[in-house]
Amino acid sequence: MFIDITRIKIASGKGGDGKVNFHREKYVAAGGPDGGDGGRGGSVIFKVDDNLSTLLDFRYKKKYVAAPGENGGSKRCKGKDGADLVIRVPRGTIIRDQKSGQVIKDLSDDEPFVAAKGGNGGWGNSHFATPTRQAPRFAKPGQPGVELEIVLELKLLADVGLVGFPNVGKSTLLSMVSAARPKIANYHFTTLVPNLGVVSVGEEQSFVMADIPGIIEGAAEGAGLGHDFLRHIDRCRLLLHLVDAAGSEGRDPLEDIEKINQELVGYSEFLAARPQIIVANKTDLLGDDREPVKKLKKYADEHGFRFAELSAATGQGVRELMRMAWDELRELPPVFVYEPDFVPVEEEITERDWQVDKVEDYYVVSGAWVDKIMSSVNTDDYESRQYMDRMLKNAGVYDKLEQMGVQEGDFVVIGDLEFEYVY
Ligand code: GDP
Ligand code: MG
Repeated sequence: MFIDITRIKIASGKGGDGKVNFHREKYVAAGGPDGGDGGRGGSVIFKVDDNLSTLLDFRYKKKYVAAPGENGGSKRCKGKDGADLVIRVPRGTIIRDQKSGQVIKDLSDDEPFVAAKGGNGGWGNSHFATPTRQAPRFAKPGQPGVELEIVLELKLLADVGLVGFPNVGKSTLLSMVSAARPKIANYHFTTLVPNLGVVSVGEEQSFVMADIPGIIEGAAEGAGLGHDFLRHIDRCRLLLHLVDAAGSEGRDPLEDIEKINQELVGYSEFLAARPQIIVANKTDLLGDDREPVKKLKKYADEHGFRFAELSAATGQGVRELMRMAWDELRELPPVFVYEPDFVPVEEEITERDWQVDKVEDYYVVSGAWVDKIMSSVNTDDYESRQYMDRMLKNAGVYDKLEQMGVQEGDFVVIGDLEFEYVY
């Protein structure tokens, strides 16, 4: 079974919570705060693995979750970081956001890609001790991890794509010029998995060639196998279009070429416009009859394609064809790599996203909205504090505190800030 597109969920780990703790020792009356920080949550990281050629592994397992960070401990002990989760994928896998279809990353190089970053650990109470606040009874919770629903889509990275009807000799050619060992058989649809081979034409002169399953009639409209597989030649820079010059299955080679090219147009104009070399294969079966080759060459000339003749079986013309492909490739732009265009939709933070908790004798105001306000406030600056005060008042934070029974002189904690309440 060949899987080249799949949906999965990924989630990075939550950061560990900071700890509230006070140093305790026999005969020591009141120890200082020693709550440690929480550990960082694990990230979800993608990495290219050239031993993989399909997304089969993702067929059954649909959710990938990295480990959370451990909570902070006493004695300033930092919680352990959560382990990263590394997901291995074949080269050429594109990660898209499931909802928008936008490209998050094209995994074409060897750089590991962090798709979901683990949440930071929260600070323990030892972090909040100041000369005037010697016994902070609060700590920060760890930040949540990131959850993403994504689509993985494999678009092979090959310079040259072999196209043509089943049985024209595509797999035979690939096996002759590379170490790839595709199945070769005299019946249709033998190739169910694209095969990649590295073709060497000289010192430091090589390219990657892909043998994709035979394109069949109606493939571009979704009939049969072909449509799914066309995405694999999407990125090829050059197409070798093989035909059975001998028409050994009773078909007309010229008609075959046109049919295949119609399939390409039906799939994508861009793909159809890719440079092609028409390759007349199985010339060994022609004997002295040069007519079919001449006809194909004439067709190629008239339609602006290059032309080569070949016998993949005897090896006649193979070297020349690979040379021709190499020369052509040198003139062509590099393999197309998708640029990321994913813009994460920010969860909208509203004025309602806050809460007040009574923690021992502190009133703790927290929440996404509070974090947002506090990150923009400089508490050493009078005007900035005034702004914060206004924001909190307008949002109803002070009303809420009073409802909860706050008294003048009680301690209120907002983000990293702690103050005595005054009316
Ligand atoms: P594909 O479906 O295009 O991959 O075709 P294959 O490579 O599997 O070949 C189909 C059949 O054609 C096999 O039996 C091959 O041995 C045969 N074949 C391939 N190339 C040649 C050739 O140049 N001459 C002859 N006589 N047979 C060939
Ligand atoms: Mg084949």
